[in-house]
Amino acid sequence: MIALALVLLGAVAVTIGVADPEPASVLRHLYLIPTLWAGLARGAIGGGSIGTLAGLLHAPVALPAVEREGLTSQTLDGLLSLGLPMVAGLLVGRLVDGSRARAARLAAVLAIQRRLDGPEPVDDKLQGSADELRRALRARHLALLVGPDARTAQLAGLPAGTVVDPAAAAAFTLATGQRVSSPDLRADPRVGGNEAVGPTPQRGLALPLASGAGVVGVMAVEWSGELPRGARAAADELALHVGLAVENARLTVRQRRFAEELAEKVSTATARLRELDRAKSEFLSVVSHELRTPLTALQGFSELLLRSAVPPDKAHRCLVYLHTEACALGRIVGELLDLSRIEAGRALELRPERVDLEEMIERNVELFAAEHRAHRFRWTSGGPQVALHADRDALDRMVKNLLSNAVKYSPRGGRVLVSAGPASDQPGMIELAVEDDGIGIPAEDLPRIFDKYVRVPHPETAAAPGLGLGLSLVKALAEAHGGRVEVDSMPGKGSRFRVLLPGADRDF
Ligand code: ADP
Repeated sequence: MIALALVLLGAVAVTIGVADPEPASVLRHLYLIPTLWAGLARGAIGGGSIGTLAGLLHAPVALPAVEREGLTSQTLDGLLSLGLPMVAGLLVGRLVDGSRARAARLAAVLAIQRRLDGPEPVDDKLQGSADELRRALRARHLALLVGPDARTAQLAGLPAGTVVDPAAAAAFTLATGQRVSSPDLRADPRVGGNEAVGPTPQRGLALPLASGAGVVGVMAVEWSGELPRGARAAADELALHVGLAVENARLTVRQRRFAEELAEKVSTATARLRELDRAKSEFLSVVSHELRTPLTALQGFSELLLRSAVPPDKAHRCLVYLHTEACALGRIVGELLDLSRIEAGRALELRPERVDLEEMIERNVELFAAEHRAHRFRWTSGGPQVALHADRDALDRMVKNLLSNAVKYSPRGGRVLVSAGPASDQPGMIELAVEDDGIGIPAEDLPRIFDKYVRVPHPETAAAPGLGLGLSLVKALAEAHGGRVEVDSMPGKGSRFRVLLPGADRDF
């Protein structure tokens, strides 16, 4: 480019020399062509140098004329033509430099905007933006701090693990929103941790990144030596754009996260609704089955007693069966009533009285041991003072539920350990524990098993009857007594359920 301008310059000089070597020749204006060309192509340096050269080439024509003729309008015009190309070249060149720098800044803003909108993690986006800004400002260092305060801000452009000194200029700018400008960072007490870089002064700027929501971060820039002209203004302009871009990016991330959370909540709720729906249908079929078993027995034995003359001893046995099955039916209906009360948000009706827990457990253990020969029951009492102020029926239901689960979920038989006594870790509370070495419960299902209709599928107990209601009832009954229920379980090893209830001396 410059070579072409020089050739043009030479051609104009030769043309003037040959065709019209007068100082006021109109041909002298042709010097402006290579000058403007150089200014447009190479900015102020190119335009200024070619303009000066044009002036010098015109001097041998213009100056002798002044000597010869003195200062006439013609020779004055020739003299002015000496300086005109230089001034025009410099002016056009500076305008070109200015618009190029502006275009570069806009390109940097665009690149940063794209980067911040991109799919990378936020840390990478900020790091890329810091690099982009450092290049655009031709700075030695550039760091971005984004966040509400220096301690928690995300950092970019700084070595990993950097901790921002709360007394540093960047922290000050982040806290107050005020810019800090330092002519020599090493001598500035507001700026910590700058290593010495030769004798050249290190100039620094800490600019707030502001958006509609206030100060969202800081851009800290460091230059070696003199501050390039316009760099300060460029840094201000870029900080303004970056503040808005960072806020936009943060809003987008927040919006995306919100949408994801919403989608997750909707899908969890839908899955839960589906599970409830399935559980309710299963519940209906299981309830019918559970009710039908004792009903069939009741029908069968009562028919037998009605239709035929049954000998008294056989009739007595039939009546015992009838009574047992009627009790089973009563228990199921009782549980369903309790649950419908809980479901309707009504309190359970409890009739508290002094209950001998030991006696109640013993009776139930005997009953279960007689019915389930494959299991070995062991019952340990924690002392004579296992007396409770509780609803007898409710307590009996809790014991029966826990025992029946221990049996049901150890389908190959095994030990069932029952214990009751004052809870060693909970003063004033009585604990009732039922432990089995059955199939156990996976950790992720433990928080759900006390919910209604929840059954944990397991191949060994797929055929086991149940409504998924027993534990929710135990929990509701324990809580109605001012207590609670806990579980410890390991899949394949077994489970231990512990009901904690206030002792007889504590009211609920
Ligand atoms: P269900 O009528 O199904 O027994 P529960 O509310 O009593 O209903 O129990 C809920 C679920 O918790 C059961 O389906 C079973 O998956 C699990 N569970 C309860 N007790 C035990 C236990 N002792 N061992 C292993 N799993 C158990």
